[in-house]
Amino acid sequence: MDCKLRDLIIIGGGIVGVAAARMLARECSVSILLLEAEKHLAAHQTGRNSGVIHSGLYYRPGSMKAKTCREGRETLYRFCEEKGVPHERCGKVVVAVTEKEKAQLAELARRGEANGLTGIRLLDRAGLQAHEPHAEGVAALHVPETGIVDFSVLTQRFAEEAQVSGAEIRTGVRVTGCEFRDGLFHLDTDIGERFCARTLINTAGLHCDEVAQLCGLRPDIRIIPFRGEYYTLKPERAELVNHLIYPVPDPRFPFLGVHFTRRIGGGIEAGPNAVLAMKREGYSWKDWGAGDLASMLSWPGFWRMGAKYWNTGLQEMYRSFSRRSFARALARLVPEIKETDLQPGGAGVRAQAVDRQGRLLDDFHILEGKQMLHVLNAPSPAATASLAIGRTITERACALFGFSRRKG
Ligand SMILES: Cc1cc2nc3c(=O)[nH]c(=O)nc-3n(C[C@H](O)[C@H](O)[C@H](O)COP(=O)(O)OP(=O)(O)OC[C@H]3O[C@@H](n4cnc5c(N)ncnc54)[C@H](O)[C@@H]3O)c2cc1C
Repeated sequence: MDCKLRDLIIIGGGIVGVAAARMLARECSVSILLLEAEKHLAAHQTGRNSGVIHSGLYYRPGSMKAKTCREGRETLYRFCEEKGVPHERCGKVVVAVTEKEKAQLAELARRGEANGLTGIRLLDRAGLQAHEPHAEGVAALHVPETGIVDFSVLTQRFAEEAQVSGAEIRTGVRVTGCEFRDGLFHLDTDIGERFCARTLINTAGLHCDEVAQLCGLRPDIRIIPFRGEYYTLKPERAELVNHLIYPVPDPRFPFLGVHFTRRIGGGIEAGPNAVLAMKREGYSWKDWGAGDLASMLSWPGFWRMGAKYWNTGLQEMYRSFSRRSFARALARLVPEIKETDLQPGGAGVRAQAVDRQGRLLDDFHILEGKQMLHVLNAPSPAATASLAIGRTITERACALFGFSRRKG
């Protein structure tokens, strides 16, 4: 054998892979190696998101999103409290600006309660302004269990604990090939080193479908990258927002609509929108990837999705190029906001799985293969839910791979 054998290799060092490594290392008597392509952990979705600990308001009751968000949120708060990770359970408001949206708020409140949320309150205009004096709407929902945190910091802390429990983490190693031979996975990497393992978990985020294909699977989804672009409020206008202000989401999409978020490190972010990215790590319109585009265009679901949503797609694109239009969307929630209050912020790219029929997969999706597990859809709120997803992966790995639990 030309490489050191491990019981398990995890591909991808975002918060999902690292949370799974931590839980597996603590719970199971197995040797674990996590490989991350970039020089540091949390380089993509995990390190470029809104930093919101989601409450679980939006998700279909009974779905994996709903269950893991609820469990993950509370476990996350406990972890932050015990380990001294900066965070805040600051709550948020979802603002209805029309009567039609007000009716949707009532439905959201019902969903929230079905998902086990407590303390949700329907507010009138005065009640909204007691929380957010500059917001304007006919009604709002106050959701006290929402919070903020830095998910990169959390990933780092999970990684430290995984290592203390015996997991090995290597960064700067991209998996480029996978051969299953004599009951073992043989992985090729971009640094020329080969790695072997009895079992494999794929948490490669924007590349999870490609990694599944490397492993010989033909998953019935393709990752379509949707960029979310942010502005930040100029510091002198930050007093317009206390905490988090959200619109009523369009129920046809898994994205929440541009909103205001206070960051745990300070400052107010506005966004993200949702535009098609021309590359999996396409953080601006300048980033194009021929291979990624070919993968997208050759997927029948991409065209079916386009046929359904081209109108919304064009509007989002227009807003991406027009700061005025972006400011107008924000001014629906806080009318005092002007184009001149915004300065360019960062961007993140969502790994959204789309099926052959052009449907955007709503729930988390984990595919089982021979001696392997592939996380093929882990969009928001997967960062919030990461500890619960880590636990789910651990349970499935124990059942599927026959890992033995540590005693005591
Ligand atoms: C704009 C935006 C806003 C969001 N806001 C929130 C929010 O407020 N709250 C929330 O809960 N969720 C939010 N999310 C969702 C959340 O960020 C993701 O669900 C979560 O980070 C997914 O984690 P992950 O580990 O699956 O993926 P990632 O963080 O993308 O990690 C995957 C890792 O795999 C690595 N990798 C890929 N291919 C290979 C390979 N071949 N070999 C080795 N490594 C590889 C990548 O380099 C990457 O580091 C947001 C997402 C975006 C994009």
